[in-house]
Amino acid sequence: MSDTNQAWFERALRVIPGGVDSPVRSFRSVGGTPYTVRSGQGAYVTDVEGTSYIDYVQSYGASLLGHAHPDVLRTLRSALELGTTFGAPTPGEVLLCEAMIERVAGLEQVRLVSSGTEAVMSAVRLARGYTKRDKIVKFDGCYHGHSDALLVAGGSGVAQLGLPGSAGVTAGAVGDTIVAPYNEVPTLDDTVAAVLVEPVAANMNLVAPLDGFLAALRAECDRVGALLIFDEVITGFRLRLGGAEEYYSVTPDLWCFGKVIGGGLPVGAFGGSKKILASLAPEGPVYQAGTLSGNPLATAAGRCVLELVSPRDLDVLTASVAVFADELRDAIGASGLFALTPTVGPLMGLFLSREECCAPRNFHEAKALCENGLYKAFFHEMLERGIALAPGAYEIVFTSLAHSRDDLATTVACALEAAAVTAKVATS
Ligand SMILES: *Cc1c(COP(=O)(O)O)cnc(C)c1O
Repeated sequence: MSDTNQAWFERALRVIPGGVDSPVRSFRSVGGTPYTVRSGQGAYVTDVEGTSYIDYVQSYGASLLGHAHPDVLRTLRSALELGTTFGAPTPGEVLLCEAMIERVAGLEQVRLVSSGTEAVMSAVRLARGYTKRDKIVKFDGCYHGHSDALLVAGGSGVAQLGLPGSAGVTAGAVGDTIVAPYNEVPTLDDTVAAVLVEPVAANMNLVAPLDGFLAALRAECDRVGALLIFDEVITGFRLRLGGAEEYYSVTPDLWCFGKVIGGGLPVGAFGGSKKILASLAPEGPVYQAGTLSGNPLATAAGRCVLELVSPRDLDVLTASVAVFADELRDAIGASGLFALTPTVGPLMGLFLSREECCAPRNFHEAKALCENGLYKAFFHEMLERGIALAPGAYEIVFTSLAHSRDDLATTVACALEAAAVTAKVATS
């Protein structure tokens, strides 16, 4: 069998549903055959055909340092020699939790899990157990992983594939989930255990919280005794080392983390005050567990990343993303198309439109821009030029610390050409 993307994808299709292990990786919404990655290095991925791309997927935010960072690899190699999983406490998990707590003000205790999904699912269970209430509030277009109760009005792949929620999720499972529009503060009552929010919505492309939204949510939660949960699976240790709390000066009761804290390996975490975390088994009545939770390899890689990244690194990334966003917007604008490249710190969105428009404030507005058909053509024109954006209009553009000024300039030059072609295709 020849080593082509097509051949590998056909082979994948035979043994893996849709050929992918996570729907966001499929090219369903943009069409065509996915590239199959053989390796990654820094800002780049290389497919099985030997073609390299400047990668803005970066494992959907799990790689903050870029791929195969030498220090992370060295750390992993030495951790590997000591054994990979024991089912007993290890120093590595303590060290990772300490590193997180040092960086996030008010975070007193953390429980490690193996994915963002597990982190949020567990935080919601904890909030319900702690408050002895049933209802949770989430926001339309926010994605919190694929646990049943949260798979309603989600962003990311759920939005991309046009699924209202998911088959297989019972009405009962989502019966206690209330969905509110992003950037509007819902009026709560004392049946609400928790309000769950992406402090910067990054799964409906990028939608920033309006001034005062998070603070008003905090106040409304306090009014009725509900917990505020920040899902920082994307924003954690990326927006700032202290995450959204540091950026917006709003403190949640519970935090959920994932992506960055695994250093490219599977890790999730949730945490908060000792008082709330005391409700977790074995101390309290809320059960939560995991055979591979706090895995030695994953915790070693995660801690290595947290120790390598300085506040200054994130400031530098933020500054270069701000310039990149302006240049990209202007390059696309030169084609006659209109681009919005909203940024929040180093996070950047990319919306394409035929007419001038304002930054979306909620899922309804984001959706109109993500579903206008322009992204699909632009995505393929960029891919042909060696730039890998996410294969879906609802994802954000992940720039890593490994992306050089040259990489960003190359990307802007490609965008100028890609947009010109897209504009022609779109009007013909
Ligand atoms: C990716 C993501 C999750 C789910 O994390 P997984 O590791 O994919 O399970 C949850 N919340 C947010 C905000 C995410 O972006």
